[in-house]
This record gives sequence, structure tokens and C-alpha cells, in this order.
Amino acid sequence: MSLPAGSTVGIIGGGQLGRMLAMAAARLGYHTVVLEPQPDCPAAQVANRQITADYDDPGALAELAAASSVVTYEFENVPVAAAQALAAKVAVYPPARALDVAQDRVSEKTFLNGIGIATADFRRVDTDDELTAALKAFGGSGILKTRRMGYDGKGQRVFRDMATGGFAGTCEAMGNVPLILESFVPFECEISVIAARGQDGAVAAYDPAENVHRDGILHTSTLPAAIMPGTAEAARAAAAKILSALDYVGVIGVEFFVLADGSLLANEIAPRVHNSGHWTEAACIVSQFEQHIRAVAGLPLGSPERHLDCVMENLIGDDVLRVPALLAEPDLMLHLYGKVEARPGRKMGHFTRITRR
Ligand code: AMP
Repeated sequence: MSLPAGSTVGIIGGGQLGRMLAMAAARLGYHTVVLEPQPDCPAAQVANRQITADYDDPGALAELAAASSVVTYEFENVPVAAAQALAAKVAVYPPARALDVAQDRVSEKTFLNGIGIATADFRRVDTDDELTAALKAFGGSGILKTRRMGYDGKGQRVFRDMATGGFAGTCEAMGNVPLILESFVPFECEISVIAARGQDGAVAAYDPAENVHRDGILHTSTLPAAIMPGTAEAARAAAAKILSALDYVGVIGVEFFVLADGSLLANEIAPRVHNSGHWTEAACIVSQFEQHIRAVAGLPLGSPERHLDCVMENLIGDDVLRVPALLAEPDLMLHLYGKVEARPGRKMGHFTRITRR
């Protein structure tokens, strides 16, 4: 069923993704209410209302359910129990199962492998001895990551060509939390696909973006990606398979490593709109944000066709000092998130530069 104009979309999380979702919702005639503990968050600045409380506050969740015709979220660490409790009262999209799968790197890779999508080899690691054994199995190279709550390269440690042994204290230094060792992937490049599934089961996938990270944070997304047509098609097909397997509604971001022979290993799924899809604002008629709102509101999906070549670049911390120069450029779309303090590593905004019409 499609939501009539004037209905309210609830959004859990008040960051820049929530902000851009709220703006897209407003353009389709909807109201928004944002649940976020930080007052005056980027999303609340453009939403109709903020409920200022923790994401798992039962009273706040009841208030959100009562105020909303549908609830969605802008980050993948929404407590699964909160999403399930909400879903008993109001439609919640994407489904809580997507959160459950994506929140733990082991369950994520197990799910992907289970539906025939290849990933890096991996081992659970809970002790220094398990790390030693896993590194030995991977020839001394691998990336140790926290299984849960990792983002933007946080909670990761790289091992390259290490002699095995001598890792005493590593698990403690990682916080004594459940870990995963992934084999080191010698990738040619990294790409991501932003795709959506509607309530009618229709799927729309945008062109893959080629992503470059700096210090573990996305730096640029370039369209088109320098990959073979078969690789792009395989990435789109994998995203569609994931969406169907999860009986998903909304936008998902799927990150892949591209190997020298053009084959793919899936790295991560993000059950939400994604930083590497911001270019769709400038290069497509229907952006990832509008696509997500269309999906959760039960509207038909829009076309994911790309009309321009472009590069999206994040403005991190002091990068915002470049804004005056960026504003002087023609063919550049700037987006700032309304954050006052430019702390190092903080995403302050992004821009998309058109490189070819
Ligand atoms: P993640 O938090 O999993 O997205 O990892 C952040 C970045 O680290 C990725 O975008 C890659 O550039 C790099 N990386 C992560 N996992 C691996 C891996 N198994 N092999 C090689 N590079 C990796």
C-alpha cells in the first residue's frame, strides 16, 4: 500500500544520511520524525520533529511508532531488538533481519556464502591462539577486524607477511571483543552497488561506483568504474540476489573487491542508503534517497539510469575550508551537513563534480 502525501516517515538516526532521507521525503510530500539522542542533529535540522532519546529507549520507540506510518533507519547499528519491537506496531523497512545479518561480519559472510556470493576467506578469532592459527592458515597475511560495530576502518589491524606467532596481547588490545580474521584480498579496485527493492519485489540497481578509501574512510566514488561490463553485471546481479534473499524493502549498499581477472568478492552490505551512492543526487533523476523513500512508502521505484560521468568526494574535517573554491566551480554540486565543528575524521559534507555530460 502506498502512503498518501502528508503521512509521516520515522527515521532512526540523525546523521547526514537521515538528513538527506528527510529532504527526499519532504520532496515527495511526506513529513519526517527523527529519533536521535544528539540534539539539533543534521537530520533534525530539516525534519519536522526530533524525538531526542536513545535508539533503544522504549518510551521513545513507542512515541516514534505512534507518530509514524512507516519507520526506517539511516545506520546499521540500530539495535535489532528495537527494530523488532517497533515492527510489532508499525511497518519497519528494511526488515530487522537485514540488520541482524549486517551487524556481525561473521553472520554477514556466512549469509553471503550461503546464497552463493563469494567473500574473502575468514575465521572467527576470540583468542591470541586462534589468531595465530588463522594467520598461519592464511600464509601470514590478513586483516583482523571487530565482528560488530566497526565502521570507516575503525577496529581493524592489518598483518602482512608476518611470521606466525608472537601475537600475545592482540585480542586484549582489540578490546577483548569477538573478532574475525579475513584473508588479505589482492584487489585491483573496490566498487559498490547501490540497489533498491520495492514492496512489489521490483529491483533497481544503480551503476557500480569505483571507491577509493583514505585512512579507512571513503574518499572518492568515481562513475563509471573502470571495470569490465561483465563485472558490473555480476555486481548488480549479486545485489539483486541479496535483496531477494532478505525479502528486503529499501536501498542497500553492497561493497565488493574486484580481482585481476574481473571476478568479485563481496566485502560488506549496508542495509541503508550509502556514502558511495551520493553521486546519484547529481547524476540520476531519482537519487538513492528518493529511491529509499519510494520503497519504504510503497511507491513504485524510479529509474536508476545515470545521465552523467562524475566523481563524488567527501569533505572530511578541515576539507570544509575548500568550500569557497568549490562553490566557484561550474558543474559541481555541493552538499553540506549542517555540522558546526569540523573535527578530524568527521564527515562534514561532500560534492559531486561532473566529468562528462
Ligand atoms: P571495511 O571496514 O571492511 O569496509 O574495510 C575498510 C577498507 O579496508 C576496505 O574498503 C578495504 O580498502 C580494506 N580491506 C578490508 N578488508 C580487506 C581484505 N580482506 N583484504 C584487503 N583489504 C581489505
